Amino acid sequence: MTTIAEFITARLDEDEQIASAVIERAWTDTDDGVSNDGTRTNNVCWIPDSAQTWPIGEHIARHDPSRALADVAAKRRTLARHTGEGHQCVKEIVGYSVQAWYDEDDPCPDLRDLAAPYAELPGYKDEWRP
Ligand SMILES: [Zn+2]
Repeated sequence: MTTIAEFITARLDEDEQIASAVIERAWTDTDDGVSNDGTRTNNVCWIPDSAQTWPIGEHIARHDPSRALADVAAKRRTLARHTGEGHQCVKEIVGYSVQAWYDEDDPCPDLRDLAAPYAELPGYKDEWRP
């Protein structure tokens, strides 16, 4: 059975692999798309220029491969803080003055949040929803 940490790791591996395959230069928003060198010749996508579409290019450029890789690295650090040896996240039980530990049957909110963006992909379990 796949744990939530294994699921997150596999998705981050995929994100990293995809971003690494296309990282060359920073992407920029141009008049008619997103370019990886600021020219129309090397547009990574074409976007019709209109009032409805102008934020699309800006959004795509803002989430270029270097940002995707930085995002993966940050999420890996967060994941490591929650899965390393000696770490256990404490949960407060509402109404009681006791503490309990999150575990695989009840993953901590940080792991649930890391997995949530991948909820539409195979392998995600509904019981992980934040
Ligand atoms: Zn945790």
